[in-house]
Amino acid sequence: MGTRKKVHTFVRVKPTDDFAHEMIKYGDDNKSIDIHLKKDTRRGVVNNQQTDWSFKLDGVLHNASQDLVYETVAKDVVAQALDGYNGTIMCYGQTGAGKTYTMTGTTENYKHRGILPRALQQVFRMIEERPTHAITVRVSYLEIYNESLFDLLSTLPYVGPSVTPMTIVENPQGVFIKGLSVHLTSQEEDAFSLLFEGETNRIIASHTMNKNSSRSHCIFTIYVEAHSRTLSDEKYITSKINLVDLAGSERLGKSGSEGRVLKEATYINKSLSFLEQAIIALGDQKREHIPFRQCKLTHALKDSLGGNCNMVLLTNIYGEAAQLEETLSSLRFASRMKLVTTEPAINEKYDAERMVKNLEKELALLKQELAIHDSLANRTLVNYDPMDEIQIAEINSQVRRYLEGTLDEIDIINLRQIQEVFNQFRVVLSQQEQEVESALRRKYTLIDKNDFAAISAVQKAGLVDVDGHLVGEPDGQGFGLGVTPFSAKPGKKSKSKKTFKEQLSSSARKEGASSPVSGKELDVSTSKTQLTPSSKEGDVKDMTIRERETSSIEPLPSDSPKEELRPPRPSTPPPKPVAFEDFKNERGSEINRIFKENKSILNERRKRASETTQRINAIKREMDVTKEALNFQKSLREKQGEYENKGLMIIDEEEFLLILKLKDLKKQYRTEYQDLRDLRAEIQYCQHLVDQCRHRLLTEFDIWYNESFFIPEDLQVALKPGGSIRPGMVPVSRIMSLGEDAQDKFSQLQQVLLPEGPDSVAFYNAKVKTEQKHNYLKTMMGLQQAHRK
Ligand code: ADP
Ligand code: MG
Repeated sequence: MGTRKKVHTFVRVKPTDDFAHEMIKYGDDNKSIDIHLKKDTRRGVVNNQQTDWSFKLDGVLHNASQDLVYETVAKDVVAQALDGYNGTIMCYGQTGAGKTYTMTGTTENYKHRGILPRALQQVFRMIEERPTHAITVRVSYLEIYNESLFDLLSTLPYVGPSVTPMTIVENPQGVFIKGLSVHLTSQEEDAFSLLFEGETNRIIASHTMNKNSSRSHCIFTIYVEAHSRTLSDEKYITSKINLVDLAGSERLGKSGSEGRVLKEATYINKSLSFLEQAIIALGDQKREHIPFRQCKLTHALKDSLGGNCNMVLLTNIYGEAAQLEETLSSLRFASRMKLVTTEPAINEKYDAERMVKNLEKELALLKQELAIHDSLANRTLVNYDPMDEIQIAEINSQVRRYLEGTLDEIDIINLRQIQEVFNQFRVVLSQQEQEVESALRRKYTLIDKNDFAAISAVQKAGLVDVDGHLVGEPDGQGFGLGVTPFSAKPGKKSKSKKTFKEQLSSSARKEGASSPVSGKELDVSTSKTQLTPSSKEGDVKDMTIRERETSSIEPLPSDSPKEELRPPRPSTPPPKPVAFEDFKNERGSEINRIFKENKSILNERRKRASETTQRINAIKREMDVTKEALNFQKSLREKQGEYENKGLMIIDEEEFLLILKLKDLKKQYRTEYQDLRDLRAEIQYCQHLVDQCRHRLLTEFDIWYNESFFIPEDLQVALKPGGSIRPGMVPVSRIMSLGEDAQDKFSQLQQVLLPEGPDSVAFYNAKVKTEQKHNYLKTMMGLQQAHRK
């Protein structure tokens, strides 16, 4: 399968007493045939006439018995048909050369029976040898005469659609002839009866319809379908064997025939030359289109020529000198056929009914297995069917409660339920997004920050400044922890979208679980008095943005002198907001300074952008006024009559000055607009730096807070030489694997202390992790000492 295969070509020479030994010679291997023609002396002295030909074939059958011919030509093709490969055997040659003798043979003499009856015999014999398969055999017999289709088995009773006239139909499964009866045969004998019936009809037709049987093409087809008797096997194979007895290939038109004979000759010549064209096209690898539909013969054989079938051509020739020209022509046809390659492939199909049955069986089995698993795992009453609306609604409600915090966890039941939970998360999320937006819209006017027109319109109305900040927002606001939530200050509507975002990001940070400080503490602090945002930051240093960028990312030296002078650790850690102020003065002073600088530059740029916008608006207004004045002057001029001097328009000085002014204004407008654009880019960049600094400040603070109040000092000392490890940064997974003892302790702690609420987990986690680390380091040191000893 999958490998290309050449068409097998054989030559069968009709026995004769008058064999042209001098002209026809066979190769020693019996696979080539050489033809030698005597020079025709009548053609003159200069004679370029070709006189020698050599044909290479797959075998020359000379004086061969029907038995040997079958063995050589057909046996393999038929055998492979039972494995699912289509096969085609064709006899080609001039009338009387023995095509019908080869294909059908003599019906009176068993010994001289041809390929057709032998093929049927072989099929039934092979079926007997394959008891594992249920194999059905069907047979049809088609004759093509003068481009009309005839069913040679139409005289037999047949249940099936009878379509007249018959038509050739193509579908994805292949080509079939609509209206041609296809007869089921369960045994050899029935099959022979069909064959004989067809042969008889062929002879009768030649009498009654006055048609010469050697002027028609006959196609005997054996259809095989093999199903495994094992019911679980859904695959089955189909194949067909086409046995083709072609009309005589001799060129009849030349010999002055007329009437019916001429018509027959024309059709035969045409169909055989179309066959030849199709074969040439099939032999040409570059050809994509094969002209199959030019005549009935090639159309009917479309899926039996080339393609995926095993193909054999048997050329019948005379061995006599008188027929040498036709013999040459037949051999040329054979050598062209040799160029055709096919790619035999099994015709495998799936029995849909069996497949469904098997899948149902498997499904039932898997359900049983699941039930067993569930009962072993004490999970009774779990349903695996698709969810109905009520169940989905229940999951939706669970998700909502989970998000609200009234439901601690959603129990996992099965895969379907997990998927639905995710699904409902998405549903709820998108609903909430919409709700938030519409709530905001009800309360505020939301403007697209890139929509200059809208911003300037709102600006005119005095609602926002150039950056979309609502009027009244304090410039240069410093960053303090626990800024009052958006809705927590009734009456004060001066909260920008920005501050809202900051809150969102800070709460996201809280949930980030990597911080050993629990979110609860931050929440608690929000209602306390230390929450006043720090006041205006002055001191804009003349640093370039690039310098700040690098300095703000650089990690700060952890062993700065400030740390060494640190006062003794208090027994209870101070509240975070207080600690944060300390941090900003202590280790965090440098980041805080950079943060403040960036922030003030950002504010300065914003202010400038705002001023530029105002200028742009002013210019625009002036442009409008000038345009209006210009239009007025123009209409005045038109009313008073125009002056023209040598084709040039004469305008008065006032109008001229207005034009100049407008031009100047436009120029200004463009410059200012460009400035604004540059400023915006700068603002965006600064904003990014400010965000980065803020994040850094908080992260450093978290680390500092842990180091200062939670992690034992000796441990810190131990960690210091490593340099790269910062206590607050040791990954959870690494700490968790530090030792069984610590693990036990942790579990105990959890059990004893968790009743305090889930928020305490993070706290205890941090504590236990620290202890674990401590133990680990102690052990390591002990080991090192032991090693030294
Ligand atoms: P075609 O079908 O090519 O026109 P036929 O098969 O009808 O030719 O053969 C013409 C005659 O020659 C028939 O009487 C047939 O029995 C006889 N004949 C052809 N080939 C052989 C052969 N190999 N051995 C004996 N008789 C043959
Ligand atoms: Mg014949």
